[in-house]
Parts: sequence; structure tokens; C-alpha cells
Amino acid sequence: MIFKCKNCDGNVVYSPEKNGMYCPYCESMESEEKKLPEQGTATCLNCGGELHVNDYTSATQCPYCSSYIIFDERVSGEYTPHLIMPFKFGKETVKKMLREKFKKSVFAPSDFFSDAKLDSMEGMYVPFWLYDFDATGHYDGECTKVRSWVAGDRRYTETSIFHVVREMDVSFEKIPVDASDAMPDSTMDLMEPYHYKALEAFKAEYMSGFFAEKYNQTADIMEGRAKNKAAADTSAMVHASISGYATKRATVDGVHLTRTDANYALFPVWIYNYKYNGEDFRFHINGQTGKIVGKLPIVPKKVIGYGATVFGLLFSILLMLNYIFFF
Ligand SMILES: [Zn+2]
Ligand SMILES: [Zn+2]
Repeated sequence: MIFKCKNCDGNVVYSPEKNGMYCPYCESMESEEKKLPEQGTATCLNCGGELHVNDYTSATQCPYCSSYIIFDERVSGEYTPHLIMPFKFGKETVKKMLREKFKKSVFAPSDFFSDAKLDSMEGMYVPFWLYDFDATGHYDGECTKVRSWVAGDRRYTETSIFHVVREMDVSFEKIPVDASDAMPDSTMDLMEPYHYKALEAFKAEYMSGFFAEKYNQTADIMEGRAKNKAAADTSAMVHASISGYATKRATVDGVHLTRTDANYALFPVWIYNYKYNGEDFRFHINGQTGKIVGKLPIVPKKVIGYGATVFGLLFSILLMLNYIFFF
């Protein structure tokens, strides 16, 4: 589908700044939805140009007319997201954030902050599974406490043996796991946290103006990472409650997990792909909190310049010491 303006037929997009649908061509806030025809995902609904999509693309931008197209069959049926977290920052705001964050970096290439480069930034809705678990942690073991004291010329040691039992119920809500192969897990983990208060029931309008992917794998296939997180957290809580012992020996130490729900959600990420010396530097910006994840490329010439300055400074200090020494 494509969202079109009633006034001028331009492509209407969701504007985080205006908190609504907006036509950048005539600056109106009115929109009308046009449905995608039957020919599938290969062509632009506005100009008929060929669209570049992979197996998972659910929204993209036409390279010819710049319209944003959403693919109905990839946001409906089993692929209907339960929830969406709308972008809170538009491109201009994110440009300011990046400039602010890296303005003191002397090693940044000069065109890193240029409008021409920063305008290539893309907003992307990344698919996530959000898992709910009921967990029970069990511990059964023998623990000891040791007390030692001196009376007269003897040292006494008392070892107390405790039979320690713990059973702890923990409920987990919405443990996030990104469901996109293209997004590195470590990067997405660093993007966290997202504030769930901003989650809304899915509306395709929020996708207009952005790129998006549908989930690459089902909730069943993806649940392992969430399960490990829930199990590790439960185990840590059980063990935190068994403290002050000299030794611990468990006969039972485990976590039982039951998945109670899995919701499919789309989370917003701005992606700035900066090429330097043939190398890709990727910056990810949490579209809800503004958290920036990425490393700046270092320009060798600037590093040498910096080193030379330090050397020059040391040299003049040595000269001054000689001067004091001789007179
Ligand atoms: Zn318009
Ligand atoms: Zn087009």
C-alpha cells in the first residue's frame, strides 16, 4: 500500500515531529490510503519503477520517485505485527543528535557530519519477538557456615551444616529478541532498553516514510535467546538469596520455564551507513530513546598531526630544562 495526499497526490509519511501523517509536498496533514494492486512486491505503486526487495522487506522506498511503499501481504495474516513502537525522532533531529554526540571527536573524517552523508540515513522498523515466561527456580543443597575462635591456648572451629531449600516464582514480561538476520544480535542488545510504554497496537500508517522487515523466523524458532535470558536471571535471583555461607553444594539447582505469550512487534532504528576508505562504519540510533551505537572511523593523517604536536611540546620543555641547568 501507499499513503497518498488528498490535495496533491504526493506520498504521505508519518512524521514523528508532527506526531501524525504529513504530506511533505504540500505540507498538509491529510492523507488517504491506496491499496497495493495484485502484481506483488516488485513494482512501485506510484511510478511503476522496479523495487529492490529481499525475502523479508515489508516496506521500502522507490529509488525512482522516492515514494514509500508498504507490502500488504507482509504486514497481514500471520505477519500482522501485534505491536509497533512509532519513531519518536525524525531524520533532522537524529542528524543534530549525531553532530552533538561526536562534535568533540578530533579523529572524525570531516565529511562525517555533512548533510550530503547524513541525509543517506534510513529509518528502519526491525522485527522483534517479545516473550513472556513463568519461571520457577529450584535449589536444594547443603551449605556450611564456619566460626572459629581462640580460648586459652586452643583454637576452636565450629562448622554448621544447613539444608537450604529455595523455590522462587518469577514472571517475565516482553523479553525482546530481534527477529532479523540482517541486524547483528550484539548491536540490537546494545540498542536496549526500549521503553514499552510507547508500544501501540499495530497501524500501517506508522510505517510510511520508513523501511521495514517482517520477522525472519517464527516465535518458536527464535525463543532460545529469550529463554536463556529468563533462566539466567531466575538463577541469579535464587543464588542471591543464598548468601553468607562458606560452602554451597547443590543436589538440585535448576529453572523450569513456561512460555505464556509471544508478541510480534516492530521497533524503530535509524541506520547511518558511512563509508570510509572502502570500509563500512554503521551507526544505529534507537528511534525511541536516541541511544547511539557505533564507532567513528579514525583518520590516520589527523592522528599523526596530533602525535607531532605532542612531540613538539616535549621538545620545547627539554630545551627549557637545559636552559635552567646551564645558567
Ligand atoms: Zn500533499
Ligand atoms: Zn516510484
